[in-house]
Amino acid sequence: MDSRAYFSNPNFNSISSGQIEEKIRLIQEERLSPQLRYCYDRSSFYRRKFDEAGVKPEDIRTLEDLRALPVFMNKEVERENAMESLEKNNHPFGTHLCAPADEIYLTGTTSGTTGIPTFTYTFTRNDMDWIGKALGHRFAYTGVKKGDRILFIFSLGIYATTMTLWGIRGLGALPIDLDARAGSELILRIADLAKPTYMATTPSLAEYLVEKAPSTIGKEVKNLKLKGLLLTGEIGVNVPEVKKRLEETYGCRAYDYWAPAGHSIAITCDSNVYYGMHGLSPDLCTSFDDLIDPDTKRPVPVEDGAIGEMVITSLKREAAPLIKYAYGDIAQVYTKPCPNCGFPGKRIKIIGRSDDMLVVKGVNIYPSAIKQVVSSFVPKVTGEMRIVLDQPPPRVIPPLKLKLEYGAETRELDLSGLADEINRALHDQCKIRPQIEWVQPGSLEKSTRKTPVFEKNYEKK
Ligand SMILES: [Zn+2]
Repeated sequence: MDSRAYFSNPNFNSISSGQIEEKIRLIQEERLSPQLRYCYDRSSFYRRKFDEAGVKPEDIRTLEDLRALPVFMNKEVERENAMESLEKNNHPFGTHLCAPADEIYLTGTTSGTTGIPTFTYTFTRNDMDWIGKALGHRFAYTGVKKGDRILFIFSLGIYATTMTLWGIRGLGALPIDLDARAGSELILRIADLAKPTYMATTPSLAEYLVEKAPSTIGKEVKNLKLKGLLLTGEIGVNVPEVKKRLEETYGCRAYDYWAPAGHSIAITCDSNVYYGMHGLSPDLCTSFDDLIDPDTKRPVPVEDGAIGEMVITSLKREAAPLIKYAYGDIAQVYTKPCPNCGFPGKRIKIIGRSDDMLVVKGVNIYPSAIKQVVSSFVPKVTGEMRIVLDQPPPRVIPPLKLKLEYGAETRELDLSGLADEINRALHDQCKIRPQIEWVQPGSLEKSTRKTPVFEKNYEKK
């Protein structure tokens, strides 16, 4: 099989792109009804949701029928389900768990940076065999193959990313999994010793290692001679300056990938320009991905360039299927073939979180959009920033307060002119004129986990 094939099933590669969409739709619709019936029969939560919507699983025959249903679950509902199942069934997997608890083969939580962690990444053995295949195929698209060693640095254990190890092993590549909490010194020493060919981590940790490498292992990260950086967990690689900086410092391609709870499995292609994460192995149909308006929660037409909150529906899941689950990522979807590699399927660019969204004078602002503008001023700034909030989001009383690190070579007397320039760019591209506060380079703390985007003054009071 061609390792760079778009599909897991090689038979799909001979089909024209117009037919592919139709064929995938048919497979999705074929899997939809049995999945919904399975959830209805096995979960008190899903039974209640269908009953509230006044429909039976058999009424939902097409993807359009599914789109017309209301959102069943978000993070908050998922937490309530977990509280209920803890009380009634003595497990944290939620009342949407559809398999017996003793059939669970792997479980992982999200980071829990915003509340109690939920065990969204909960799978049976069958689930993992299935998802592992698609996860592996995704990395094969970047050239990962048997014989590669992947230094895999995240918060490990019961965390979401642990799932990915199944995909790497399935490819015949060797994951060298190291907990990010081990600290940069140990990470860099292992990187120097194990001679990995790829490194999988978060964009912010990859950047942090650039700084620490010379003093820790006596060499630049470029000398690790990696073939690729596989990055996830944060917005980063889709900011052109961040991608360029990482690729220059490491001397290899920086790929952006994701698979929320094992759905929407996607990765970017080998290109200098960011063309979005390509939905790999769509023929495996692990999910149906939809978009809704983050305010009204109504479906948004999924056409080239559309922006909305992602809603996923599992299509062949045993342990904890997610039906009409709006988990908070705001994405832009592209449906035209990729200008770089010709990939014919859907491509996705994550532009923010619905809970990160700010509303300034009635305009929806995503921190990633601000970061993108700020990063275009590197090296006059370092690119590090914090949005200072005096009251809980999303409403912000203008002006929005922005803390920026000036660049190491920038003179203090130039700062006021630079602030004006950045403000003009932010007004052109984001329709805001923030109040900029300059801080010294290196003064905003970087995290080995997710670097915070907000400084929440209202929590300090
Ligand atoms: Zn491409």
